[in-house]
Amino acid sequence: MAHFIAGAPVAGASGRWSEVFDPACGAVTARVPLASKAETGRAIAAAAAAFPKWAETPPLRRARIMFRFKELIERHADQISALISSEHGKVFSDAKGELTRGLEVVEFACGMPQLLKGEYTEQIGSGIDSWSLRQPLGVCAGITPFNFPAMVPMWMFPVAIAAGNTFILKPSERDPSTSLFLARLLAEAGLPAGVFNVVNGDKEAVDALLADPRVAAVSFVGSTPVAEYIYATGAAHGKRVQALGGAKNHMVVLPDADLEQTVDNLVGAAYGSAGERCMAISVAVAVGEVADTLVARLAERARALKIGPGSDPAAEMGPLVTRAHHDKVRGYVDLGVAEGAELVVDGRDFKLPGHERGFYLGGCLFDRVTPSMRIYQEEIFGPVLCVVRVPDFDAAVNLIDAHEFGNGTAIFTRNGNAAREFARRIQVGMVGINVPIPVPMAFHSFGGWKRSLFGDHSVHGPEGVRFYTRLKTVTARWPTGMAGDDSFVMPTNG
Ligand code: NAD
Repeated sequence: MAHFIAGAPVAGASGRWSEVFDPACGAVTARVPLASKAETGRAIAAAAAAFPKWAETPPLRRARIMFRFKELIERHADQISALISSEHGKVFSDAKGELTRGLEVVEFACGMPQLLKGEYTEQIGSGIDSWSLRQPLGVCAGITPFNFPAMVPMWMFPVAIAAGNTFILKPSERDPSTSLFLARLLAEAGLPAGVFNVVNGDKEAVDALLADPRVAAVSFVGSTPVAEYIYATGAAHGKRVQALGGAKNHMVVLPDADLEQTVDNLVGAAYGSAGERCMAISVAVAVGEVADTLVARLAERARALKIGPGSDPAAEMGPLVTRAHHDKVRGYVDLGVAEGAELVVDGRDFKLPGHERGFYLGGCLFDRVTPSMRIYQEEIFGPVLCVVRVPDFDAAVNLIDAHEFGNGTAIFTRNGNAAREFARRIQVGMVGINVPIPVPMAFHSFGGWKRSLFGDHSVHGPEGVRFYTRLKTVTARWPTGMAGDDSFVMPTNG
C-alpha cells in the first residue's frame, strides 16, 4: 500500500507501518505506510501547486469531472463495496449503502455551478450595484474515521474540489484502501494531478497538516477527544475547522408507538454495522408502561441476529473492525454488569463456526441502565443497546438534553404534537420522527450539537459549500461623466 500524491501512487518512506486486518477472519491483509512530517509536506506542496490553476478552472468544467467520477463509482460499486467490507467488516449490502450515500454527495457537487452563483443587487445605491460571491479557500485537508471509509471522505472532498479547492485526505489507518481506490477513479475521471491527494498515517501526519500554514481548512470526523484536539490546534494555527465527534444517540419510545415498526427499526439502528455508526441508536428511552413489552421484543430479536462475515448475503451484522476494538466493547459489557445494569442478552461469548479468529461479538442488550453508569455516559461503538426507563415525555427530553453528546436522536410515537414538541425542544442536531437514523441527505447538511461537533459548519449540502468557500462582496459604480462625490460622511441611501 502507498500514498497518492500529485496524481500517482508514492511508496511510504518513513519506515513506519500499521497492519490492516480482515475482521471476518482476523488475518493481516496489508501494511499501510504511516507518513512522516516530510512526506505529508510533499502532499501539501503538490496540493498548493495545483490550486491556482484548479481555482481558475470554470465551475462547469470542474463539475464535468465530478459527473465522470460519479459514473466511474457506479461502474465499480460492487468492487468498492467489497473492499469496504473486507477491511471494515460490515456486510456487503451495508457497504453499498454507505457508498451510495457518498455518491449522493458527488451528485450534489455536480451542481456546483448553480451553488456558486452568488447574490446580486442592482442599484444598491444610486448608480451602484453590489454582488456577493464565494471563492475557494486553497488547500483543504480531511481526516476521517474507520467506520465509513467511503461515505465520510465523500462528505468532504467532492464539495471541496468542485468548489475549486485542492484536497489532502488522511483516511483511517484501519481501512485505507477505499480512499486510494477513489483517488485512482478521480484521476481516471480527468482530475488534474495534485488536486486530490491521499496521505496515509497517524498523529504525525495529522499534526503536520494542522501546523502547516499552506493548509487553509481542516475537516475532521472521529472521536470527541481527537475532534476537540483538531479543532483547538487547527484554530490556533489560523485555520477554518469543522470537527465532528462522537455520539450517544437516544431513541424515545412513547407508549402509543407502533411497536412492531419501532422494534424493527430499533434493532437495525442498534445492531446494524455492529453498532459502529456515529448515528447508531445506543440508548432506547422507554417511556412509561411500554418498557416491559419493548425489552421482551428487543431481546427476542437481539438473540436472533444473523451474524456472519461481510461477504455472507444472509448476514445482518458483521464483526468489529479490530481485535483491540472488540476487546474494548466487550470490556464495556463487563463494566455494565459490574455497574448493576441488567444484561438481558449477552453476546460476549458468541463464536462463528469456521471463523473463530474473527472479531465477532453477539448483540448485547442491557435493561435498567441509569444515567450515572459509564455504559450510559460513554460511547461504546459496538452492538450494545442500553434501555433506560423514564416515567414520562419530559423526563425523556431532560435525559437527552443532559447528555454531553448531541449528534442524532429519534422519537417513535403516533402523537403528532408530542413529535413536534420533541423536534422543537431537543438539544440535538439531527432528529428523526419515526425514523431511527435521521442522516440528512446530501442536499441538506449533516452535523450534531454539543460535544458531537466543534466548529460552526456541518458537512455537505449548503453548509459544506459555505465551509469550503469564503465570501467576497463587491460594490461597484462606473463613471457617469457627472461631478464626483467628495462626501466625507458615511454613504447611505437616505
Ligand atoms: P478516531 O478519533 O480514533 O480516528 C479518527 C481519525 O483521527 C483517524 O484518521 C485517526 O488516524 C486520527 N487520529 C486518531 N488519534 C489521533 C490523535 N491522537 N491525533 C491526531 N489524529 C488522530 O476515530 P475512529 O475510531 O476512527 O472512528 C470512530 C469515532 O468516529 C466514533 O467516536 C464515532 O462516533 C465517530 N464518528 C463520528 C461521526 C459524526 O458524524 N459525528 C461520523 C463517523 C464517526
